[in-house]
Amino acid sequence: MWLRIEADTGRCAGAGMCALVGPALFDQTDDDGTVVILRRVVSGEAAELAVECAGNCPTGAISVRPVEEGSSAQVCHAPADPGA
Ligand code: SF4
Repeated sequence: MWLRIEADTGRCAGAGMCALVGPALFDQTDDDGTVVILRRVVSGEAAELAVECAGNCPTGAISVRPVEEGSSAQVCHAPADPGA
């Protein structure tokens, strides 16, 4: 299943849990540490990681939802771990 990752930066507290647990999916801004989504649409292990990150976010700022079949959503094929 493909999932789309969304983040409500207004709710983000900049705690950095998402970037810590899923550095291939999330980063933080340099100024206030709010979340930056690195991969919008994910599947497989990356999708499982996105769900885990959403569950770990202390403010509930991250959400994931299934991508509708036939959606024109942009898919990123970047490797799960760019540092590997
Ligand atoms: S874990 Fe939640 S509150 Fe913390 S930086 Fe990520 S989105 Fe923001």
